[in-house]
Amino acid sequence: MPSGLRSVAVFCGSRPGHNPAYRAAATALGTGLAHAGMRLVYGGGRIGLMGVVADAVLAAGGAVLGVIPEFLCRREIMHDGVMELIVTDSMHSRKLKMFEAADAFVMLPGGLGTLDEVVEIITWRQLGLHDKPVLLCDVAGSAQPIQAALRASIEMGFANADAIELFEVLDGPDATLARLAELQPSQAPANSTRL
Ligand code: AMP
Repeated sequence: MPSGLRSVAVFCGSRPGHNPAYRAAATALGTGLAHAGMRLVYGGGRIGLMGVVADAVLAAGGAVLGVIPEFLCRREIMHDGVMELIVTDSMHSRKLKMFEAADAFVMLPGGLGTLDEVVEIITWRQLGLHDKPVLLCDVAGSAQPIQAALRASIEMGFANADAIELFEVLDGPDATLARLAELQPSQAPANSTRL
């Protein structure tokens, strides 16, 4: 019997960004995850869009797992309201824990950290180390630069044409939530020992 996704990792900015649409999208995504019964896995902070998405899930009665490296506990102002918080010894172990805990990944708008996290997950998928879905939730064009970077890699001959299928771009939180509701957890075993 299909069970659907249980946990979704969200990568997003530790700042709110300039456009109020970013905050609105994070709120809508968090609320929708809670209503769908999908646990949020995220970076454990209470600031920026990270805090917005976690607060929205909690306000709607959903479950949250935060994963934060010890050295960022103060800088990212660790969220003390989340249900489950794992403190890791490094950025690398944080990313691995988030990867292992999630059935799928969503990128909301963010900065370099967000980009780093989602590109790493996409790269691991390109290497065949996992087959978990990666969704880019586009808010006012926020997903365009990463799409353009991948298209440029393909045009320059540094990636296969089908690399564009490693992730999906959805227009806003409603479309992202609708797609999440259709997805099933990957049956392919994730090869964490190679990460
Ligand atoms: P940002 O998008 O830069 O606001 O960062 C969002 C998240 O990415 C935060 O949880 C940061 O801790 C994390 N982050 C920031 N810089 C890096 C980095 N160089 N490598 C991995 N993660 C990062």
